[in-house]
Formats: sequence, C-alpha cells, structure tokens
Amino acid sequence: MVIDITKCNGCYNCFLACRDEYCGNDYPPYSASQPNTGQFWMRIMEKERGKYPKVKVAYTAMPCMHCEEASCVKSAKEDAIYKRTDGIVIIDPKKSVGQKGFVSACPYRVIYWNEEKQIPQKCTFCAHLLDKGWKEPRCVEACPTGALTFGDLDDANSEVAKRMASGKVEVLHPEYGLKEKVSYIGLPKRFIAGAVVFGDTDECGEGAKVTLEGKGEKRVVKADNYGDFEFEGLSADKTYVVKVEKAGYKTHKIEVKTKVDIYLGDIVLAKTT
Ligand code: SF4
Ligand code: SF4
Repeated sequence: MVIDITKCNGCYNCFLACRDEYCGNDYPPYSASQPNTGQFWMRIMEKERGKYPKVKVAYTAMPCMHCEEASCVKSAKEDAIYKRTDGIVIIDPKKSVGQKGFVSACPYRVIYWNEEKQIPQKCTFCAHLLDKGWKEPRCVEACPTGALTFGDLDDANSEVAKRMASGKVEVLHPEYGLKEKVSYIGLPKRFIAGAVVFGDTDECGEGAKVTLEGKGEKRVVKADNYGDFEFEGLSADKTYVVKVEKAGYKTHKIEVKTKVDIYLGDIVLAKTT
C-alpha cells in the first residue's frame, strides 16, 4: 500500500469503511469481529503545522505495515501470527487467544487488545476479500481522493508499483528496520514560509527572488503576487539561511533553525539609495 499524504483531506472514509467491514463481522480464519469502540485498524494521525497565519494540517493514515521483517511474527509461536506468501501478516484469531503480549510486539502500536474475546487484533489488508477476488481493501476503495493505492508490487504496471518507483516514497519509521509494506508520499516534515513587502510602497513583493541554503541544499523560488513564498519538506533541526533579493532593494538575509515549522512573517525590503 502506498499512502499519499498530500492527497488526504482527513475525511475518515477509510477508517469508517474498515469499521463497517469488521464491526460485528467474523471472517474465520482471517479475523474475529472488531469491537465498536477502542480499535483503530486504520488510524488517522492529525498533525497541525506552523502557526497563524500560516497553518497546515497533515493527516497520516496508519494501518498495519505488513512488515517483511515483522517483529510481531517473530514474537509469536505456532503460527499465532504468520505471514502469507503474498506478504500479508495475519493474527490467527484462534491461536492467539490470551496472547496480550502481542500488543507490545509491534513498535507501530497497531495491534489492539479485544478484552471481550481476549484476542489481539489488527488490520488484515482485507485478506478475506482479496482471496475472493477483490483487487483492493475496503479502505482503499472508500478513499475519494486517491490517497490510498494498493496492489501487487511484483506487477510493474500496477499503480502501486509506479508510485513506489517514483522515488518519492518513504516508510514511517525506517529506524525500526522492519521492511514495511506500507509506504508514504509527502510525510510532513518542516517548512519555512514568509511574505515579502516592498518598504517604499508597502506593496506585496511579487517577483522577489528567495533563496534557501543549508548544508548540501539550495533552493530558489519567486515570491508570488501576494509576496508569499514557501519551502516545504525540509529537514528538522537544520540551520538554513533565507536570502531575499530584488533589483533596486537591499538584500535581506535571515538565519533560521527548523526546530519547528517557521513563518517568518513580513520581510520588508528597504530601497537602495
Ligand atoms: S506493523 Fe506491527 S503488527 Fe503490522 S506487521 Fe509490522 S510489526 Fe507486525
Ligand atoms: S486494509 Fe482492510 S483491515 Fe486494513 S485498515 Fe484497510 S479496511 Fe481495515
């Protein structure tokens, strides 16, 4: 599965479709029914970025990552959690009875405990539907913006394989080393934004050249007709220099560190004499 954060508007259709499929419905031997509350097989993490007047929200949908090197599978005995030949990781609803420890076997925390049934549960990639011939899980089918893509990575012509080959994908936590089978495009990082103003006329600084330079990185943009500019997808905790230039005005330089997303506010350019 490839999840494009830039296309997600936080409608929660994926989450609701998952609930609709699994609440009150058993699919032996794939899964037992999901309780009405307390489980989020497709969890949406909402992250607010920046500060007024430059605020953004990113929604990161998070199912089980169906890891190739799944720590949950390694922690389970007698195939209580197993990986199918197609890569889907399944918790056996019968063999896992009483195995509460599985909940903490996943660093992504996507395994939930069903108190009533005394079983651990999680996303199955809708394996019961795929085995019936469905091409994609319920959550992917329900997404109205095309943020979720699902398919066969071994098929080079599939949409998911094309997105994987785009060079833009990354996993949520590469440091876990689990070889996740869910990848993301556009994971929220840091941005630096601001607005250029011509000091002599108090007009928007349209067309001003804004250069961002950090260690091993250089980007150039032009301020738009409101004088606004933005650099997205920057590294966290990195020092950058923002340089604003326009013929007839003094060059303005600001050094910033991306501890958080940064809005520089109005950058007023003074006329050269
Ligand atoms: S995300 Fe967690 S539960 Fe899912 S396969 Fe990986 S380790 Fe297992
Ligand atoms: S793939 Fe199926 S089980 Fe997993 S989050 Fe989507 S709808 Fe739920």
